[in-house]
Amino acid sequence: MIDLRSDTVTKPSEAMRKVMYDAEVGDDVYKEDPSVNKLQEMASKITGKEDSLLVSSGTMGNLVSLLTLTNRGEEIILGDKCHVYAWEGSGVSIFGGISMKIIKNNEDGSFDLSELINSINPLDDHKPKTTTISIENTHNQCGGSPLEVNFMSEVKKIAKENNLKIHMDGARLFNASIAQNQSIENIVKNVDSVTFCLSKGLACPVGSIISGSKDFIDQARRWRKSIGGGMRQAGIFASAGIYALENMVDRLEEDHINAKRLANGLANIPEINIDNEYVKTNILRFELSNNINQDQFTQYMKKEGVLFNSSYGAIRMVTNYGVSSKDIEKVIGITSKVISLIKK
Ligand SMILES: *Cc1c(COP(=O)(O)O)cnc(C)c1O
Repeated sequence: MIDLRSDTVTKPSEAMRKVMYDAEVGDDVYKEDPSVNKLQEMASKITGKEDSLLVSSGTMGNLVSLLTLTNRGEEIILGDKCHVYAWEGSGVSIFGGISMKIIKNNEDGSFDLSELINSINPLDDHKPKTTTISIENTHNQCGGSPLEVNFMSEVKKIAKENNLKIHMDGARLFNASIAQNQSIENIVKNVDSVTFCLSKGLACPVGSIISGSKDFIDQARRWRKSIGGGMRQAGIFASAGIYALENMVDRLEEDHINAKRLANGLANIPEINIDNEYVKTNILRFELSNNINQDQFTQYMKKEGVLFNSSYGAIRMVTNYGVSSKDIEKVIGITSKVISLIKK
């Protein structure tokens, strides 16, 4: 099977497993796990933030961060296509009593700055206090687009003028860094908190990191405990995170090259509507023309050994560590064959 459903399907390599086997561990709720401590220190150095915290997933990272920045009864502004709003089961509303105000995402994952300004509530007893802006980088639902650093400085200006905090869902932060040839530190300099995943393109079995100020992380650690996310000998998988930060970041470039190659190949098939110029990281989204039934296409592709996801009427393919450049050539060939079989 060539699995393009997500980069979460990546499995730890032999070398990563060996590191996990040999990991030094302790009780992390007592802050005594040396591997967790080391991973958190590495993350702080990379992000240029004061402190960092290991959590079990990206969803937990976003939840804990937004609970820390935003009080009950307050409001977050976020894009309508973002993961926090669309794919995290309303955790911030359920656990934090926080309301989400959505504004329209542009195609590149940014949003209109005047819409952002207009959506900030004035201080008024009728209205929830607007406290936080949440942005996503790279933007999953917007074709893996990395956010422009300029956009983020504009958002920061607006946040500062209105006394708002900014959280970045950087599940694929390293993909943004590689695609834009920017340091992580530069990408996150305008945000108060950032979360990134170890379990996606970096191919760890579990884990995400939150980074921010020392006060922020102290408070986030309390929230992590409250929602049941305090872990004990977490060094077993934190060690995989250390290994990944040292060995798995640069290879993300291969995923980007493969995604581009795949996009260029698919663009030659008339029944596929894809903006191949737009593909900058490891995610590509495309639509099929009306004479192709999407469910049938998905079924036939699966029969031929190609897996992918679809949502909102579009197909999403995510290149990853388990997919080689040879596989990409195969996928292009299989797609072309399946389409000629089923087109009406
Ligand atoms: C995957 C993803 C998350 C959540 O990560 P999990 O570890 O699956 O909970 C958050 N944000 C974005 C943009 C993602 O793609």
